This record gives sequence, C-alpha cells and structure tokens, in this order.
Amino acid sequence: MRLSPNKPEGTQEPMLARLTVLSMGLGCVLWAAVSVWHFSARAGLDRLAQRGAADLQLASDRLVSALLDYRETAVLAADHPYIKALTTDDSGIAPQVVSEVLQRFADLAGAEQMLLLSPSGRVLAGPPGHADRLPLTPDILRARQGAAGLYHTVQLATGQRVFSFALPVFAQQTAPTGIVVLIVDAEKVEAPGRGAPVPVWFTDDNGVIFVANRSDLVLRPARLSATQVSLAGQKLLQTDLRDLPALGLEISRDLPVIGMTGHALADATGVLRTARVQAISLALGLIGVGSVILALWEWRRILARDLQREARINAELERRVTDRTAELRATNEQLVRTQAELVQAGKLSALGQMSAGISHELNQPLMAIGTYADNAGQFLERGYPDRAAENLLRITAMAQRMGRIIRNLRAFARQEAEPATRVGLAAVVEAALDLMEIRLKENGISVDWCRPDRPAVVMGGEVRLSQVVVNLISNALDAMVNCPNRRIRIRIVPGPTTTCLTVEDTGPGITQPERVFDPFYSTKEVGTAEGMGLGLSISYGLVQSFGGTLRGENTPTGARFTVELQTARAPHSGTPPPQSIPPHSESTQ
Ligand code: ADP
Repeated sequence: MRLSPNKPEGTQEPMLARLTVLSMGLGCVLWAAVSVWHFSARAGLDRLAQRGAADLQLASDRLVSALLDYRETAVLAADHPYIKALTTDDSGIAPQVVSEVLQRFADLAGAEQMLLLSPSGRVLAGPPGHADRLPLTPDILRARQGAAGLYHTVQLATGQRVFSFALPVFAQQTAPTGIVVLIVDAEKVEAPGRGAPVPVWFTDDNGVIFVANRSDLVLRPARLSATQVSLAGQKLLQTDLRDLPALGLEISRDLPVIGMTGHALADATGVLRTARVQAISLALGLIGVGSVILALWEWRRILARDLQREARINAELERRVTDRTAELRATNEQLVRTQAELVQAGKLSALGQMSAGISHELNQPLMAIGTYADNAGQFLERGYPDRAAENLLRITAMAQRMGRIIRNLRAFARQEAEPATRVGLAAVVEAALDLMEIRLKENGISVDWCRPDRPAVVMGGEVRLSQVVVNLISNALDAMVNCPNRRIRIRIVPGPTTTCLTVEDTGPGITQPERVFDPFYSTKEVGTAEGMGLGLSISYGLVQSFGGTLRGENTPTGARFTVELQTARAPHSGTPPPQSIPPHSESTQ
C-alpha cells in the first residue's frame, strides 16, 4: 500500500516560533542573571560597608584614644609643681631636675621626648642636647593662648612622623607661664593597628596620609591614584597598590578631635565573585530548566504531529477500507448472483441431459393412454364394462406416474434462495434417483441405495441438496460409461452432530482428486453434452453454504464422494421429521 509521503508542511512557522521562544527565554535568563547579580552585589556591598565602617570606627577610636592618652600625660606634666616652678623666674629650681621629671613623664607615656618651653618658644628644660628654641608650630601657638594644641609633622632632620602635643603651664592664674610639649612618634600610635585585615588610613587637611595600618600608604596623597568605578549602586575604588585590594569599597569618617579624616577600603572582590557565581548558577539552572521545558515542548509538538499524521493515515486507510469493502460487497453480490445463475444453469444443463429420457418416459404412457382409452371405448360399445374399467385403471396409474415425474422436474427446476432448514436427506436422495431413473436405466447402471433405519434430518435446502445428489449420481454415471461393471452405491450415515451421505461408483476413479472442485476443471470431452467443469465446484459451494463439506477420494473399486452436513436438532414442537417413508432397500435396473 502506498500512502501520500510526509510533506514538510508548515516547517517555517514552528521554526520561527521556536526561535522567538528561544530568544525570549534567553532574554529572561539574562535579565534574571543580571538582577540576581545586582541584588547579590548590592546586599554584599551593603554588608561590606557596615563591616568596613565598624573596622574604621575601631581603628579611629584606637587612634583617638591613644592620642588622648598622650595628651593626658602632657596635661599631668603641665600641672607638675617642679615644671610650674621652672616657668616662674623666682623658682630657684634647677632645669636639670625639671628635665629629669620631663623625661620620666615621657618614658611613662612611651613618647619620644618632652620639653618645657617659655611662651616665646625658648626651651627651658628637655632631654640632653635639645635645641634652644622650637619653631612656633600651631600647637605651641595654641598653647600660648591657654588651650591644648595638637600638631603632626614630619621632622626634617630625621624624616620621622611625629605628633606634637602642647599644653599651657599655669604657674599664675592669668596667662600661661610656660608650655609643655610632648613629641610622640606616629609609628608608635599606628603600631597596634598593623596587620588588621582592612586597610585603614588617616589623612590630614593637606590631603596627605599621615597614619596608616599599611606602611606603603604612609605620606601618599589621599587620592591614591585610584580609579572610581560605579557598581551595583556603590562607588568602588580600583587600585593597583600592593597593599590594597584591586577593587575596594571606601568608607570615610571625619575625626574633628584630631583634625583628620579616617578611611577604610573593604575588599569588594569576594562579594562581586559571590554575586557573579550566584548569577551564573542561576543562569545555568534556568538554562537547564528551560532546556528541559523546551525538550518537553518539542517532544509534545513531535508527538502531536505524529498523532496528526497517524490520524491522517488512519482516515486514509479507513477511506480505502470503506471503498474496498464497498467494492468487495458489490463483487460479492455479483458473485452471489452469478452463483445463483450458475446453479440454475447447472440444473438446466442436468434437465437438458434428462430431457430426452423424460420426453420418452412421458411419450410412452401418453401413447399407451391413447390406446387404453380407445380400447376402453370399444369395450364399452361391445358391452364389456369390466374390461373398460380395467383399461381406465391403467390410464389412471400411468397418469399418476407422469404426474410424479413432472412434479419432480418442477421441484428440481425451482430456484431456491431460502436459508438452510430441516431437510430429510433420504427423501432428497430418492427424488434425485427418480429424476435420474431414466438415464440410469439407459446406461444399464444398478443402484445400491440403502435407506437409513433412522431419520436422517440435516440442515440444508431441499432443491439445492437434490441438485448436489443429482450431480454426484450424474458424474458417477458418466465415469462408468466405458466400464463393464456399472454400480452406484448410496449410503446415509446419520450422526449426533453430522450426517454423511456417500455416493460410490465402480468407475475408473478420480484422475486428480485435488483439482476436482476447481471451477472449469473437467476431464470430459469438450463439445459433448458434459464437460463444463462446474458441477462439483457448484455442489461444493452449495454444501459449504449449509455449513457442510464435500470431499472426493478414490476407493479400490472406483470413486467415492462424501457430503457431510450438520444434523438438524429435534424441533421443539411435536412435528414429525420430514422423512416419514419406512426404510427399505431398492435396486434399479
Ligand atoms: P464436469 O462433469 O462438467 O466435468 P464436474 O465439476 O462435475 O464437471 O466434474 C469435474 C471432473 O471431476 C470431471 O470432469 C471428472 O474428471 C472428475 N469426476 C467427477 N466425478 C467423478 C467420478 N465419479 N469418477 C471419476 N472422476 C470424476
């Protein structure tokens, strides 16, 4: 069977739809990944800012409290009686003694040195080898005005960064009589913060880093030659300094107490890496889920397409089956008609074969009836009514015989189309023998017919069954034409489910038993009255239509044909079986 090939119908549209869905899906994935990155980075940077602010607060507090501690020492020193005394002209205390006191204070605080100045800046006491005068730095100027001063600077001689605390000394109540100056190395102040994880630095008003927990940052400009980058709503610093993170979040805080601004740079690379990993993971997850959904969608589409194709094929098949069925039905009806015609033709052919004998059989009694009637007339004229009655009785007997022959012929010629009914098989055989009687006689064939001793009722059609039996007898007769011993034996064997009728002859036997039921198979000469090759195939079809079988085989003496039919079940009512003639054995010559 050939079905229409699978056309690539509408392939463009699904392809376009797939591309649209794919690009929309990728767009969604990109949007989701960017959003996740943004939120994650933002939250991470917020946390980082809080941590950085806390670190900066800690470092600032440490620096401020350290500086305040130094100032406290300076305050204490400024109040020392020896120091106070030296600032007054009439003290009489040796500067050496005051220098020692100052040294003790400096040692106690862990400072570089402590000096006592006059308000004009002249050094009154201090460590050995001190200068005579100190420059009037802002802290000293402030102390001269009676307030505490703090100043930071890089000492030109040593390059050392120092904090300088200047406290006024009040020997009298009115104005400062002297100034205590405490000089602290900046490294000592920043030492405790060294190694802290977050880089922290403090810049002064000049924009220079003065204190830092990373040595590389010290004395660098506050801007650090860094680039500012905006990411996730935060401004980040990108630097390439050794001690600083490549990308960091800067937190600043003003420290007015010490006149500086504190800075911390929290490393943002980790936060950004986490955000990146989360965004990539989400994107990969979404792509995975999307791929599964896409695959399922594709699978569903292919399935739907296959189902559609299958439905189309099925519809096509159904249409063909319907067409074919209609064709077959028409052919079948034609066959049934042809078969009926053939059956009828077969019967007419049989009738044709019998016609000569039958007309002879009818002609003879007709002539005899004429003669008997004349005789009866003459006997009546002569006054012999008994003899006339005798002739009239003969006429009656002959008319009855003629009537029987004609009845059989009419029954045989009738076209029968009813379904199978109960039929007495022995009566059918006898009717067939009646029809064939003349031909059998003409050919000198003896019939051995043994009527069964119990009713043999089968399912079939009376006329059609008699046609089958006539055909079997007729074939046996034809087969034995050239045989010296011509005998036909007919038997019925009734059984509970099937009943068998056998017709045996003493002919030459069947030449090709496997072909005898083929239509148009005949060994009889063409051109003679016989030889259409349809008799057995029609008989076969008739027997089969009753649910029975017909088979032919050879016996040691000739051929045997067996008709096997379904035994009819006893009727429910008390109707007598169709076969009511008492059993007897009959032989016709
Ligand atoms: P037909 O009688 O027209 O040949 P049939 O279908 O009745 O057609 O018979 C087919 C053939 O079967 C016969 O030609 C014959 O060769 C064979 N055949 C039938 N009956 C007998 C039989 N009793 N003995 C031998 N051959 C037979």
